[in-house]
Amino acid sequence: MINLELGSKHQETFDKLRMMAEHMMRPYSRKYDREEHTYPKEMEEVAKILSSNRPIASAKSDPGAKGVRNGANLLSVTAYEAMCWGDVGLMLSLPGRGLGNAAISAVATPEQLKKFGGRYAAMAITEPGAGSDSANISTTAVLDGDEWIINGEKIFVTDGEHCDVVVVWATLDKSLGKAAIKSFVVEKGTPGCEVTRLEHKLGIRASDTAAINFSDCRIPKDNILGNPEVAKNAEERKKAFGGVMQTFDNTRPPVAAMAIGVGRAALDLTREILGREGFELSFDKNPINSSSLEAELTRMEAEWNAARLLVQRAAWMADNKMPNSKEASMCKAKAGRMGNAVTLRCVAMCSSLGYGENELLEKFARDSKILDIFEGTQQIQQLIVARRVLGKSSSELK
Ligand SMILES: Cc1cc2nc3c(=O)[nH]c(=O)nc-3n(C[C@H](O)[C@H](O)[C@H](O)COP(=O)(O)OP(=O)(O)OC[C@H]3O[C@@H](n4cnc5c(N)ncnc54)[C@H](O)[C@@H]3O)c2cc1C
Repeated sequence: MINLELGSKHQETFDKLRMMAEHMMRPYSRKYDREEHTYPKEMEEVAKILSSNRPIASAKSDPGAKGVRNGANLLSVTAYEAMCWGDVGLMLSLPGRGLGNAAISAVATPEQLKKFGGRYAAMAITEPGAGSDSANISTTAVLDGDEWIINGEKIFVTDGEHCDVVVVWATLDKSLGKAAIKSFVVEKGTPGCEVTRLEHKLGIRASDTAAINFSDCRIPKDNILGNPEVAKNAEERKKAFGGVMQTFDNTRPPVAAMAIGVGRAALDLTREILGREGFELSFDKNPINSSSLEAELTRMEAEWNAARLLVQRAAWMADNKMPNSKEASMCKAKAGRMGNAVTLRCVAMCSSLGYGENELLEKFARDSKILDIFEGTQQIQQLIVARRVLGKSSSELK
């Protein structure tokens, strides 16, 4: 029989984190939304609890399940969902964990994982001339003796100001295309690595988004992640870029889980606000007797559940070492779209209360927008799914 419930360990973690989100994040939501770029010092306590409570932070597997693992990936999406029910912007600004950490986990060697795994890492791919087309980056890395010299400009780096290290995508030789793109770990404070600007944004205003300039920035030779060789033939080249792209298979389900969290937050608050007027949503009512409001809320709940199951499947596949690129993009596309549609519709359903700043609904709608943009936009996820379903390469289907 199919069981769609979370395992007991994961559910326990979810409940604990959800409580933390409610009592330690929500009370600061509006404050840091208004005070954009202010360091949310109260989140240090949340980060401390997360890292000191190992069962919360890293359940390796579910011993109850024979041959099938519910491990770190499923746990991570469970955690992101619970915390983003609290606040997406504050979750993204939790000291100690950034999108670069997933990038390190995806491609680092065991030695590098030991060295960089515990650092607070941002991820810098996007450039003024390369967004969705990440294979088109121009930042260069040149080997000079025992050091790499990095030159280029990265923009929209989440946690770029507050992080300890930045995982930077750079090309060893642009004429060799995707195969020559590698990721490098740059310590903040290294001469030649400078935060030049912080962005003012529509949503996730608690999270810092930085532009970083690399000018003759020298880093140790060992700070290249994964295999430093540039593939020679077409088959090897395909695999090599696949290596850095694996990052996305790890980071897309967590971003999709963030949309699940904020979508749930909007649905819960909407039902609470409507409940103050005496409205109650009941799922066991005959549909013939349902109002349009009930029908719409029921449809949104169904969309939310469908998106959540896709996110859990993509993470579960990663736990069980199954290739999950298609499922990672499917869940990101579905959850991003659901999050945007549900949060905005909840604003409309509660009308003036939804639109005003006395409630958090308008903020949920603003925060959810980015989840359909970063780690690959809605259109890019659909393109990837189409390529996988039709068996087409990126040059065949653009
Ligand atoms: C708040 C914020 C935080 C971010 N954090 C990070 C970060 O930590 N690290 C990082 O590296 N980047 C980050 N980004 C950048 C983000 O990943 C890019 O904005 C995103 O990949 C889109 O790139 P772009 O903005 O250049 O848009 P473009 O690539 O120029 O796309 C513009 C529009 O065209 C569409 N489009 C593009 N190509 C196609 C196609 N082939 N078919 C159909 N439609 C297409 C897109 O879907 C989009 O709607 C962040 C961005 C923001 C706003």
